[in-house]
Amino acid sequence: MSNPTSAATNNLEAFWMPFTANRQFKQAPRMFVGAKDMHYTTSDGRQVLDGTAGLWCCNAGHSRPKVVEAVQKQIAELDYAPAFQMGHPKAFELAARLAAMMPSPLNHVFFTNSGSESVDTALKIALAYQRSIGQGTRTRLIGRERGYHGVGFGGISVGGIVSNRKTFGTMLTGVDHMRHTHDPARNAFSRGIPEHGAEYVEDLIRIIQLHDASTIAAVIVEPVAGSTGVLLPPKGYLERLRKICDDNGILLIFDEVITGFGRLGAPFATDFFGVTPDLVTTAKGITSGVIPMGAVFCSSSIYDAFMNGPEHMIELFHGYTYSAHPVACAAALGTLDTYEEEGLLTRASELSQYWEDGLHGLKDCPHVIDIRNLGLIGAIELEPIAGEPTKRAFSAFLKAYDDGILIRTTGDIIALSPPLIISKAQIDELFDKLRKVLHAIA
Ligand code: PMP
Repeated sequence: MSNPTSAATNNLEAFWMPFTANRQFKQAPRMFVGAKDMHYTTSDGRQVLDGTAGLWCCNAGHSRPKVVEAVQKQIAELDYAPAFQMGHPKAFELAARLAAMMPSPLNHVFFTNSGSESVDTALKIALAYQRSIGQGTRTRLIGRERGYHGVGFGGISVGGIVSNRKTFGTMLTGVDHMRHTHDPARNAFSRGIPEHGAEYVEDLIRIIQLHDASTIAAVIVEPVAGSTGVLLPPKGYLERLRKICDDNGILLIFDEVITGFGRLGAPFATDFFGVTPDLVTTAKGITSGVIPMGAVFCSSSIYDAFMNGPEHMIELFHGYTYSAHPVACAAALGTLDTYEEEGLLTRASELSQYWEDGLHGLKDCPHVIDIRNLGLIGAIELEPIAGEPTKRAFSAFLKAYDDGILIRTTGDIIALSPPLIISKAQIDELFDKLRKVLHAIA
């Protein structure tokens, strides 16, 4: 087992770590060297219970046999196939299987390698589609404050996290943002879908009045915003959003990079909420995090609109060298097998009440100002320390790691999203340990 201070790993300088306070990390590195089912193994030989499915992605748990076997076999058989003008059977098999999981008419799948790429792909498809149906004036894109749509220029433009945007130049023009739906004054300690706030969707009406519907191509939202601290859609919000988009010829994109593949207790948020968008972006759980992959689902009317030109012409000038990579496809097929055989895509619905009760049991811990949940997602919001935002939650993260649980923090919010294989005993362990952590850091 490797050790961060061993000769092989004692040069920590070369690797510029993403989304990490590099200087702080390198003074006291935290290293994982193994993972199995619900646990990581640290370089000092400890077991850490995974309360976050890696980064919201390892929905089937870690190193699951079907996935490991599928990947190993695929590398030995067909390691790579050109993504343009060539195919391989597993890409078509996977696309057909995924399309069958989605409600009609979301019957077509475009493969990418990440959530960020899925978002950029969906935005580009939306713009190109509007043009293809003679609506070329529709070039504006609408996102939301506190939305997270990855780190591509499209994603940070429609996204609404200040620190994700402010140092990176001018971004896409013609982007507007609706308000987010987080309303702690009215919805604090709500369980499941919050009651109040559907009226925030009327921001879209105001934007339409300002710019005219004929200039707007698409709206993108996360059905449940995860990365900015689990912001839930108020009752009726998504339904009304769908209606406004329909009435105005605007495409609706659901970014399901987190909510896809069982997180809410249904295969996708679109099933869970009964609201069908025109495009759905996914990644993460598609391979349970094992191999980078993303997929954009699009409706048959969008797909068909591109299939009208001369047959020898490329319909959409877009794609990646690694779109539908054979090893990623194999990983995804092994993952879907695991989800199906173990009933994981609906397991969150069976566990959600138990999860909710355990999570809300932390209400009396010091400095807790809100708790919210849906499916197997939870958030605990802590009162920020005056003048030192993020410090309290980050102390909790560090203490939790020392105490054997992996949690995630964003600002002063602790976010939880364990693999869908978690047992009730492990849910108890997660919350028992978190309770001790919250008391210890107080
Ligand atoms: N969209 C959403 C909703 C996400 O949560 C994320 C990642 N957390 C992304 C896009 C970006 O995905 P990736 O990091 O794979 O590019």
